[in-house]
Amino acid sequence: MHQTHKAIGILGGTFDPIHLGHLRMAIELYESLDLAKVHIMPCFQPVHRKLPTATPQHRLAMVQCAIASEPALYADDREIRRQGPSYMIDTLLQMREEMPTTPLCLLLGIDAFLGFPSWHRWRDILNHAHLIVAHRPQYHLPSTGIIADLLKENLQHEYGFIHENPAGGILLRPITALEISATDIRKQIAMGRNPRYLLPDGVYDYIKQHGIYSISRI
Ligand code: ATP
Repeated sequence: MHQTHKAIGILGGTFDPIHLGHLRMAIELYESLDLAKVHIMPCFQPVHRKLPTATPQHRLAMVQCAIASEPALYADDREIRRQGPSYMIDTLLQMREEMPTTPLCLLLGIDAFLGFPSWHRWRDILNHAHLIVAHRPQYHLPSTGIIADLLKENLQHEYGFIHENPAGGILLRPITALEISATDIRKQIAMGRNPRYLLPDGVYDYIKQHGIYSISRI
C-alpha cells in the first residue's frame, strides 16, 4: 500500500526529566528515517514502573522547554490530557482515528524493547505502529524467546518499509551512544551535584526554579 503521508515518530516515556539521551535519539531517528515529526509524549501514569517523581505537568513543561526551538520535535500532551494508566495501545488507537493511513513509528531504546512483550495488547500495537529500536550500549538482543521470534517475523532492513506501510515492521537503528539516565540525574540533583550538560540548560533551570528533585522529594 502506498502512503501519502510521511511517517511520524512517537517517543513515549516518563521524561522525569527529559535529557540529552532522549533528545539525540529523537533527532537522529528523525533525520535518518526521514520522519515528518517526532512526537515526544510524556505519559500520565506509567504502567510498567513506579510512579515518576515529578508531576505530569512538570514533566510536560520540561519537555516543552527542551524542544521549544526545535521544529522537528513536538510535545504531545495527549496521554496527560487522557489521564489514567497510559497504555500505548489506547494512544495509538486515538492517533489512528486522526490519521487513518499515516505510518506511525514507536521509537524505543533496546531496554524498553526487551520489555515490550509485557505491554498491554502488545501484538495489537504492531497492527498500528512500526517499532524503531535504537541500540544502546550494554543491552543485547536475545537469540531465542519471544523477542527473537518477533524479530524473525517483523524485522525490516530497508527503512522505506516504514513509509510504504502504516504499521507492522521492526527496524534496528544505531544512534550516538549517550549513557545518560533520568534516574542518575535525579540522584545527582538530590545529592547536590551538578547535572549540567546531561540535560538542556533550560530544563535544569526549570528544575531548580521548582525545586523538583530535591532530597526531600526523591
Ligand atoms: P529512568 O532512568 O527514570 O528509567 P530514562 O532515562 O530511562 O528514565 P525514560 O523516560 O524511561 O527515560 O525513557 C523513555 C525512552 O527513552 C525509552 O524508550 C528508553 O529506552 C529511551 N532512553 C532513555 N535513556 C536513553 C539514552 N540515554 N539513550 C537512548 N535512549 C534512551
